[in-house]
Amino acid sequence: MNNDTIPMLDLKAQYQTLKPELDAAVMRVIESSQFINGPDVEALEQDVARYCGANHCIGLSSGSDALLVSLMALDIGPDDEVITTPYTFFATAGAIVRVGARPVFVDIDPATFNMDVNAIAAKVSRRTTAIMPVHLFGQCVEMDPLLEVAAQHNLAVIEDAAQAIGSEYKGRRAGSMGTVGCYSFFPSKNLGCFGDGGAVVTQDRGLADKIRLLRNHGSHPKYFHKAVGGNFRLDTLQAAVLRVKLPHLDAWVQARQQGAAFYTAALAKYGLLGRLIEAPKILQSRHIFNQYVVRCDDREGLREHLKNDRITTEVYYPQPMHLQECFADLGGHKGEFPESERAAVSSLALPMSPELPNTQRERIVRSIAAFYEAAGKLPRRAAA
Ligand SMILES: *Cc1c(COP(=O)(O)O)cnc(C)c1O
Repeated sequence: MNNDTIPMLDLKAQYQTLKPELDAAVMRVIESSQFINGPDVEALEQDVARYCGANHCIGLSSGSDALLVSLMALDIGPDDEVITTPYTFFATAGAIVRVGARPVFVDIDPATFNMDVNAIAAKVSRRTTAIMPVHLFGQCVEMDPLLEVAAQHNLAVIEDAAQAIGSEYKGRRAGSMGTVGCYSFFPSKNLGCFGDGGAVVTQDRGLADKIRLLRNHGSHPKYFHKAVGGNFRLDTLQAAVLRVKLPHLDAWVQARQQGAAFYTAALAKYGLLGRLIEAPKILQSRHIFNQYVVRCDDREGLREHLKNDRITTEVYYPQPMHLQECFADLGGHKGEFPESERAAVSSLALPMSPELPNTQRERIVRSIAAFYEAAGKLPRRAAA
């Protein structure tokens, strides 16, 4: 066991803990042969709305489609600008460009990797119609100043809460604070299904109705189309799986938080914090640790060392959005968002499974220490 490769996330371990219930839920859908919509989707929508502190929830085909259909429902398109972060998964900026609008980036706060909310006001123009904050790695953006700018300029707020279901800012849940909140049920998120899935929540009934219409080709009644939407539905099978998993989400979050605390204490114990490693900072009221991301000295060297030691790591994200080839026509250039660019070369995500035993976390931190010891950057410890 001790020499097995440690994965970023151990989905097999999670499946084993819930196997009988998950298998039964999937079989129930197959036997009912109701594969599209139906009571499982509706029940999940109610559960997610309640969990996230929202009035309405609409199940969707993915987190990417949740962002896209939100922009469509808000009539955001050509000539519009949407302010967002360059340090995120591609889907955030991708959705903005897909509706024909222009992403306008603000740099990140180096403490949290989240967008620097104090930089937003200066980017508001006549064309700005929305702000799209991303609650990265499971910690909320500082929402009060952001919501204030949005209110002043009458802007929509589309929360990309794909990594942050259940995280909180001043007691309010990610996704429930803006005009709409978008979640992903991709397998690597805290609440993952057996494939692709997503959802939108909102407090606004009119907007919820519009998103419901758009997810089904704008069809109402059947074969009479009020709007051009798409097929953005959540599979019934995925909804059934998610209904089994949702009641366990808080326990998984707690295990993630304990795992994060263990990592940080171990990094301190080995003398790594400060010069060589920066641990994640918890600045908002409930960080759900979708990822445990450190900054580190000589990241590529450390990654290679850990890989040789059978420890999987990941880089979220190696290329900020303003430097992506497909966005070249936006005119971004190197040096434009220095904090995002610095994060792209120094951040490293460590394995973060709720099921990972602390002995394995200790092994990971010991291996990190061994790397810097060998490089002469950390005094050698007496062998334990
Ligand atoms: C995962 C993710 C998405 C996209 O979700 P999918 O379900 O994979 O389409 C969007 N934004 C962020 C920040 C994400 O992490």
